[in-house]
Amino acid sequence: MDASDLLRNSLLQLSKQEAVRDVIQKAPVSRSVVKRFVPGAAHADAVRAAAEMAATGRMATIDYLGEDTTDVARAKQTKDAYLQLLTALRDEGLTETGTAEVSLKLSALGQALPGDGNSIALEHAREICTLADLAGTTVTLDMEDHTTTDLTLEALRELRSDFPSVGAVLQSYLRRTEADCRDLATAGSRVRLCKGAYKEPESVAFQSGADVDKSYVRCLKILMQGEGYPMVATHDPRLVEIAGALAAQAGRAATSFEYQMLYGIRPDEQRRISDRGDRMRVYIPYGQEWYGYLMRRMAEKPANVMFFVRGLATR
Ligand code: FAD
Repeated sequence: MDASDLLRNSLLQLSKQEAVRDVIQKAPVSRSVVKRFVPGAAHADAVRAAAEMAATGRMATIDYLGEDTTDVARAKQTKDAYLQLLTALRDEGLTETGTAEVSLKLSALGQALPGDGNSIALEHAREICTLADLAGTTVTLDMEDHTTTDLTLEALRELRSDFPSVGAVLQSYLRRTEADCRDLATAGSRVRLCKGAYKEPESVAFQSGADVDKSYVRCLKILMQGEGYPMVATHDPRLVEIAGALAAQAGRAATSFEYQMLYGIRPDEQRRISDRGDRMRVYIPYGQEWYGYLMRRMAEKPANVMFFVRGLATR
């Protein structure tokens, strides 16, 4: 294990430490260090960011920050926040034809609550899907650590029986993902393929970057050759290029798949891709619970750590 792997593992462990989170998260979202990745704490901030994307030809998927909820009132508050967000997006004309959709973490909607957490999360997700559908847009289920993959895919199946356009994320670092891609490469199925952002054991996940990238290409081949709608979620220039080549090889039109990147990461590349006529969707997180999200972004790029520490030390 080299120094950057050590740093990555420490940051991913820190992302789950509630005591540290409670101290660091007191910094307001307005701090420039947070603002680079999170446009703000209020619905209006997310709506403004989505409108900015739309003005420059990019689509958006919006995530109300929060995860691992252990309190039923909090899970309900998250569901209500999504309903308010969807209403605000619709009022701004941003939901028609899916210009802005929403991304959900089932753990924020109650999946981890003891007892019937799973059905509480599913009911919350169903309410959000209903409003999204009425507003003319859709929902994508984020994927969290591997202990939740089966539950999330089961929720996807249930939701898709009423809302066929609901999509889900698959993570190429998991050994199972090639098989999941085969299952989901069917007509109307939206799959967002990413590398994966959690700390996972070797028994379930590839550990080296090279193996994760090779798996990404194998998974992408399956999705591009399949009948579904692939969503290529990566900032990796090599994988972006390979995705374009695989789409061309499969005879796909530019409207039959999309690229996706995170808010604040490689914005020039985002615009270059949408300017050339391909679809680009930007994942926009907002809210006060930015700690876990930001820690995972630090883990992906060690240079961000100094940016973060300097930002917290000033102001
Ligand atoms: P990397 O090899 O990590 O990065 C490639 C290059 O991109 C880097 O060299 C750098 O130039 C740039 N870059 C990457 N990350 C950063 C950063 N943080 N700051 C600055 N530059 C950076 N993961 C999940 O586990 N579950 C999810 O549901 C999920 N949803 C996602 C949705 C979207 C739309 C995207 C884009 C990512 C999502 N992720 C999710 C995160 C993903 O798994 C990766 O951790 C993340 O995208 C970094 O991997 P990469 O493919 O960009 O490649």
